[in-house]
Amino acid sequence: MLNRAFKKIISAAMAALLLSGCTGGSSDTPGTPTDSGAEPVVYKFEGSAAADSELYVEPIEGLTDSFYRGADVSTYLSQKESGVTYKDFEGNTLDDAGFFELLAQCGVNCIRIRVWNDPSDKDGATYGGGHNDLDTAVKIGKLATSAGLPVMIDFHYSDFWADPSKQKAPKEWAHYTFDNKKQALFDYTKSSLKTLFDEGVNVVMVQVGNEINNGMAGETDRSRVNELLIQGSAAVREASAEAGKDVKVVLHYTNALENSVMDIANDLISANVDYDVFALSFYTFWHGTPAQLTERIKALRELTGKEVLVAETSYAYTDSDGDGNANTVSTAASGISLDYDISVQGQANEVRDVMQAVKDAGGSGVFYWEPAWIPVEVYDPTAADAAEVLERNKTAWETYGSGWACSAAKAYDPDDAGVYYGGSAWDNQAMFDFNGNPLESLKIFKYVFGGTTAELKTVRVEDISFESGIGQPLALPQAVPALMNSGAYADIPVVWNEEQTASVNTNEAGTYDINGTATSDGTDYPIKCTLEIKKINYIKNPGFEDMDMTMWNIDGNGVAREEDNNKRSGLYSLKFWDDKPVKFTAEQTIIGIPAGTYDLGAYLQGGAAGSNAVFELYVTVNGSTLTVPSKVTSWQNWDNPVIGNIEIPEGAEVIVGVRVDAQANAWGAWDDFSLTES
Ligand code: CA
Repeated sequence: MLNRAFKKIISAAMAALLLSGCTGGSSDTPGTPTDSGAEPVVYKFEGSAAADSELYVEPIEGLTDSFYRGADVSTYLSQKESGVTYKDFEGNTLDDAGFFELLAQCGVNCIRIRVWNDPSDKDGATYGGGHNDLDTAVKIGKLATSAGLPVMIDFHYSDFWADPSKQKAPKEWAHYTFDNKKQALFDYTKSSLKTLFDEGVNVVMVQVGNEINNGMAGETDRSRVNELLIQGSAAVREASAEAGKDVKVVLHYTNALENSVMDIANDLISANVDYDVFALSFYTFWHGTPAQLTERIKALRELTGKEVLVAETSYAYTDSDGDGNANTVSTAASGISLDYDISVQGQANEVRDVMQAVKDAGGSGVFYWEPAWIPVEVYDPTAADAAEVLERNKTAWETYGSGWACSAAKAYDPDDAGVYYGGSAWDNQAMFDFNGNPLESLKIFKYVFGGTTAELKTVRVEDISFESGIGQPLALPQAVPALMNSGAYADIPVVWNEEQTASVNTNEAGTYDINGTATSDGTDYPIKCTLEIKKINYIKNPGFEDMDMTMWNIDGNGVAREEDNNKRSGLYSLKFWDDKPVKFTAEQTIIGIPAGTYDLGAYLQGGAAGSNAVFELYVTVNGSTLTVPSKVTSWQNWDNPVIGNIEIPEGAEVIVGVRVDAQANAWGAWDDFSLTES
């Protein structure tokens, strides 16, 4: 989990803290269509022995076959129509039956399929994104069913992508009264399910809406959304009863760790919404750590008494883009936490850890999002024919809807799809390589039962940064973090170059490169320490990395030390948010500073604070206060207020702090305080 953190500067105190705490088939017997009378093989993995694999996988104790290991392959048909081929582990090209059989053999036990009402324009041109109308869902659903794989249907109740940023009503419903929309949603849900049942699709779960935190089908008011959910749920109940099927009603939300998710769950109780499963999207690179997920699922289960599962997760296995459309997850992308190695092993580790986290909380399963969304033709920007390949890919995306959006989507979603239409931002998160060969990580869905025979070993040792105060004795770390194939970090011993270490002048500010040799399992790893001799920072716990917060006196509401993506460095920050006005001070008293002239600084980011919000950094020396204003603009845009040239006499009492007075729902974080000699 600390991949990124260790690239940032670590102080001597933090190094000790962090070093101690990191944990971190072939298609020869494809499933036979049910109309031939033969039953598909239903695979059982409980009680599996350790599998022979290079992939390191620790078993998840107590996992049962009933735990969902799902895959959302909604783009599958559009991929095939575009000319994509998928292979088995021996390199044989798979037919449709063979593809789904391969998923089943690898431990996948449920297929998720999204459904849009009418994802095409008035001339019938597809909006893209897999052209996932009901007809497409029927086709994919039948293939899954023939391979013995049950299906989760994911109604977006929109004509295209529905997520927290957009929940646009289908074109046909756009001008309906609310009562008519409720009826339309009921009728559409019931008739669509009837079609799926009539076609023989083994639907076992139905999502009423997709990532509906902020609304559904064009409605944003939560009580109205609840009325729509009641209609959708009733339609699922009726359709499944009439078909004699046992089908679970699933409600699906993202941003799993936000406080509002608990509010929503409470609202569902108050509104008497009838459902069975509370589903979450949980991408570690956006949403948080598996440990946090466990806590949230426990809380949701306790509050709702419902099943909880992860309906979407994924991770990158390569940093490369395969199709000429830039990817969501890459080392070049901002605003994401790459807590796992970008490799096949790292991808497998992420899935395993999310499954373990869900299992630990008593959850019901984990679905991987779009493991088969790969390039139509592999795009290499350095190749001589790169431009031609990209043009052919664009033609395929436009013709078959295998990219995330087509130009035709402009009519429905002019500001996003209409402008940014193109290919896949997800090809590096597939579980097939760019040429359609399955990755070893695809087998994670079965390997989690018995684990693998691969031994725990070091993947790499990263260079470190280290800070030491002027005049302080230099104590370089004696151990450095090594990334293991388990995804965790282990301390391994390091020896630093003596000559370079001896040349460091600890009485002056300066930066040094010191070479070292770390050793693990008899292998030497040459690494580098970037050493900075810097002014002493007199603020205690300046970046909130230390769990001990007793030096900080916090008075007010909506503020706490938290581990999430609001940090500036390390893992933690002093985060604030509240659904009522956010008002607090956070300060610490420092005594025993040598007489001199000092500079005080801090960092602030956030948003939604309102035009009258007050953010201040202040210092009080023997009762006399200096203040400087700060401000928030947007996420991860850091303001750096500084109070310079503070005269501090010998024996002074110095209080440093920040004050926040902002409107309800203001959010943000303070981080990285410093009080150093000028
Ligand atoms: Ca791409």
